[in-house]
Amino acid sequence: MSARYLLRFDDLSPTVSAGRWSPLAALVAEFHLRPILAVIPDNHDPELEASPPDADFWNQMRSLEAAGATIGLHGYRHLCQSHGRGLVDLHRVTEFAGVEFATQRAWIAAGLRLLRGHGLNPRIWVAPRHGFDARTLAALRVEGLSLLSDGFARRPFIRRDLTWIPQQLWGPVDKPNGLWTICLHPNSTGDDQLAALRAFLVLHANQFLSVDEALLQFPPAPLPLAERLYAGMVFRRLKCARLYKAIRRRVRLRSSNSP
Ligand SMILES: [Zn+2]
Repeated sequence: MSARYLLRFDDLSPTVSAGRWSPLAALVAEFHLRPILAVIPDNHDPELEASPPDADFWNQMRSLEAAGATIGLHGYRHLCQSHGRGLVDLHRVTEFAGVEFATQRAWIAAGLRLLRGHGLNPRIWVAPRHGFDARTLAALRVEGLSLLSDGFARRPFIRRDLTWIPQQLWGPVDKPNGLWTICLHPNSTGDDQLAALRAFLVLHANQFLSVDEALLQFPPAPLPLAERLYAGMVFRRLKCARLYKAIRRRVRLRSSNSP
């Protein structure tokens, strides 16, 4: 079987960049995609206030969900102030990792309540900046959320009594097999990324699934050792690439500041 894809849009809130989100939403309609819509229940992150609040935003999310999209719970307020170490340790500061269990549970419950209050049915956890720990997973289980979007394996799997649908890509890449989630951030998706996604969809739109189709075609099970080792290797490579980029940025900054 050739590769299958899921599309995931992060940082959706009424203040998402209108100019960048609307062409992505147009692609969803044109290619009949059913993406994961990672919605922030109560955004307080000033960096994500890219446009004035869109009065039609919640209506649009309801329509997309009715058309087959899956609503993701993208944290609570997206205020990343915790320095705890997460299970997918890619960022130093996140919203959830390291926060005590009772608070995490209260944030998840409040987030679910808010999204349900807007007529949505959040079904999958999408942690801001990959930041979640064992307490987050316990809180998700208690609050009845059994799906999460993270990890680097090539198929969905079960770990710690939750179903993980891995998210491995930040742009379209032609893969020979497996299930690949492509994550895009509408607030920062440039014209070149939009064009690349469109070109990929022209060729591969029929390989894009909804979450439910993905779980049917790739029934989740505990990962075999070889796939766990593969996912660990991908994670370490990604971490090294990020570290290298950060060092280069720092060196460039230092040389541009020196007289
Ligand atoms: Zn985010």
